Amino acid sequence: MRLGIDLDGVVADFDNGWMSRYRTEFGADPRMSHAEPGAPEIVWNGLHHGTHFPDMDAFWEWVHRIRLFRHLDPIPGALEALTTIANDGHEIVILTAKPDRAVPDTLYWIADHQLPTREIHFIHDKHRVACDAYLDDSPFVVPELVAHRPEATVCRMVAPWNEPVEGAIDVTDWSEFLDVVRSKVL
Ligand SMILES: [Mg+2]
Repeated sequence: MRLGIDLDGVVADFDNGWMSRYRTEFGADPRMSHAEPGAPEIVWNGLHHGTHFPDMDAFWEWVHRIRLFRHLDPIPGALEALTTIANDGHEIVILTAKPDRAVPDTLYWIADHQLPTREIHFIHDKHRVACDAYLDDSPFVVPELVAHRPEATVCRMVAPWNEPVEGAIDVTDWSEFLDVVRSKVL
């Protein structure tokens, strides 16, 4: 099978990565509802609400200036699961919507962590890349994949910033995604 795999929030831990750098650099905890009761609700592309940044442009400017995409930790279990999936004979297709200026550091990151892939797409409309199964955490991408690839198995990596999507399978970690992949093969 061809498996279309997102990076941030799925393989790379952007969530903890940026918050940890923020604490180090600014000496303050970002105020995020999933880390602190009563803090601003975390919403897609609204991370600046828990910081001193006035808007998301300023937030992303900081992310690129510190080259955060090169220094993220992998999400627990991700690299091991990808290796298992690749060893089982499946193709890992990386589908990431990151902007142009994140491309070099993302390629460094993929190399640093030796992701078992021969195919990497930097693309917003991920459904344009045909795969048998997809794994993504974006509240915009998952519904698009379900709509445009009805024949495919679409999995939502459950996160505070997304919600269930009809037609998508929820997975909470990589062992659950492995179970889905194996259930499709048998
Ligand atoms: Mg993502």
